[in-house]
Amino acid sequence: MNRKRLILSTGNPNKVDEIKDILEDLPLDVLSKDDLGFKNFEVEEDGSTLEENAIKKAVALREKTEGIVIADDTGLFVDFLNGAPGVYSARYSGENSTYEKNNFKLLNELKGVPMEKRGACFKTIIALAMEDGSVVTVKGECKGTIGTEPKGDGGFGYDPLFIVDGYNKTFAELGEEVKNKISHRAKALNRLKEEIIKILKDDADENICSK
Ligand code: IMP
Repeated sequence: MNRKRLILSTGNPNKVDEIKDILEDLPLDVLSKDDLGFKNFEVEEDGSTLEENAIKKAVALREKTEGIVIADDTGLFVDFLNGAPGVYSARYSGENSTYEKNNFKLLNELKGVPMEKRGACFKTIIALAMEDGSVVTVKGECKGTIGTEPKGDGGFGYDPLFIVDGYNKTFAELGEEVKNKISHRAKALNRLKEEIIKILKDDADENICSK
């Protein structure tokens, strides 16, 4: 198989490592936007869905470079809050949001709400902007419940509040190794891998005459 170039629109080193790890056995040259000298290239995430934002980020970088570009967007959707913070998860507590302030706000919004009504899910969308101009998206979801207080030291963002279905522990308590096997992002990355294997196979088939 010919090697293809896969460009990651993220500059987040943790995400870059996670993606490189999962795709390491494929004939791909995986490069981050920083590797290509686009460190300061930012796209405003003003879409009303995760999908819109992921596609916007992937397509914007695709227009500047050669190769397949992937971009992701993640949000936490809480049932009792009609899906909030959702696409606004990063900025939930306003302009100067921090993980701590976001978690504080979420706990306040759910004050007095019983556990059975605190259902939530994380969703990750990954968009692939192809060399021929087409776009494919894949999705990963993880279900859970929002706890009444932060628990655990691992992870980031809403992890100390998100009690994972079937584990009775928050992502922050479960730690990175377990989280990276069962999370929304892990599921989306596995689907991304399947999609890339399909693309590589289609490319290889193009050079072979059918029998
Ligand atoms: P991003 O699209 O990956 O930048 O995620 C947007 C926001 O969602 C982040 O700023 C975090 O607040 C939250 N978030 C994303 N992924 C996770 C996760 O795995 N655990 C907890 N919070 C997350």
